[in-house]
Amino acid sequence: MAYSRVLLKLSGEALMGTKPYGIDPEIVQSIAKDVSKVVECGTQLAIVVGGGNIFRGLKGSSAGMDRATADYVGMLATVMNAITLQDGLERAGVPTRVQTAIEMQQIAEPYIRRRAIRHLEKGRVVVFGGGCGNPFFTTDTTSALRAAEINADVIFKATKVDGVYNKDPKKYSDAIKYDSLSFQDVLSQEITVMDSTAIALCKDNQIPIVVFSMQKSVEASQRNFNTIRTGRANTSLLDRLTVEYYGVDTPLKSLATISTPDSQTIAIQPFDLSSLSLIEKAISTSDLGFTPNNDGKIVRINIPPLTEERRKQFCKLASKYAEEAKIALRNIRRDAIEKIKVSEKESELSEDQSRDQQDSIQKLTDKYINEIEKNLSKKEAEILKV
Ligand code: UDP
Repeated sequence: MAYSRVLLKLSGEALMGTKPYGIDPEIVQSIAKDVSKVVECGTQLAIVVGGGNIFRGLKGSSAGMDRATADYVGMLATVMNAITLQDGLERAGVPTRVQTAIEMQQIAEPYIRRRAIRHLEKGRVVVFGGGCGNPFFTTDTTSALRAAEINADVIFKATKVDGVYNKDPKKYSDAIKYDSLSFQDVLSQEITVMDSTAIALCKDNQIPIVVFSMQKSVEASQRNFNTIRTGRANTSLLDRLTVEYYGVDTPLKSLATISTPDSQTIAIQPFDLSSLSLIEKAISTSDLGFTPNNDGKIVRINIPPLTEERRKQFCKLASKYAEEAKIALRNIRRDAIEKIKVSEKESELSEDQSRDQQDSIQKLTDKYINEIEKNLSKKEAEILKV
């Protein structure tokens, strides 16, 4: 492998799968399987796991909780994730140790740096729970800290988007994606891939950060599908709509309650009545093709049934979005396979390991392409339903 010791940062949300909260055991098992392949190749792997799927300190404190107390609750959430992950990994045949930054010896070892390194050398995965044990920090900072302490070659961080952008690509269509960035640029441009404390630590200790995602191509295509109209009212048609509110492009979802009182109507009830006309204007000037009206309190959009011609056009558009997502996936596959071949050429991987890894990449690509195709068929059925 190109790296001999890796620190993987898994956010708590990565364990949620498609659930809105908590842990999806199937996802844990699939992460465990992927991790077992990495370990089989002889890479030493440490994992820092977050807790955002259960509790975040900032959310607790914005609801009135004492910030430090809320952060301790967040740290306990990361421990739940850590031992769940250990269970999944051990079931996948990967010997794993959990070390926590806050001692709880009945369930895990306390964090001891030299002991963690010893576990890694013996081929065990070490999962760090409890963050760094201090409130006012995040598990991103913990990743940078632990990576420096155990001399990791690199931090791998899974994200919700398919790379690093200068602004949120979900909100801004003109967001620019970077292939690589210096630490200085991340700090000076305030790019929020990791918090600034984590970035500064990585910069000082020269630990590169690799940001990755494949699942995101599937999610991006699903988001695009959601914006295509069907004959029935559906609130996700407005998912990408932003409204200029106090001079700032703001997602409609954060300004109003959106509902479908019947199958032909979408109703939008603003939290702040003064934004009613701004919302109406944003809808009528968008490319959605709707004519909104309002009764002074609620904006309503009538969704007329689709003509045969429109249905065909929308099916074509859905196929186009699916094709774009498949191309994105194939590009990720191509890049990954190229990297594996380089590692084989430089004798970092044996022929067998290289073949196994190429097979895994192919299987992953097939799995995600299959998911896109299933989503496309579902969307086509919705569009064609009269
Ligand atoms: N936390 C903390 N100190 C740490 C790490 C985490 O106080 O060193 C708390 C903090 O409240 C944070 C929560 O634990 O919100 C969960 O961690 P994080 O938000 O980093 O998890 P992720 O977003 O990666 O799931």
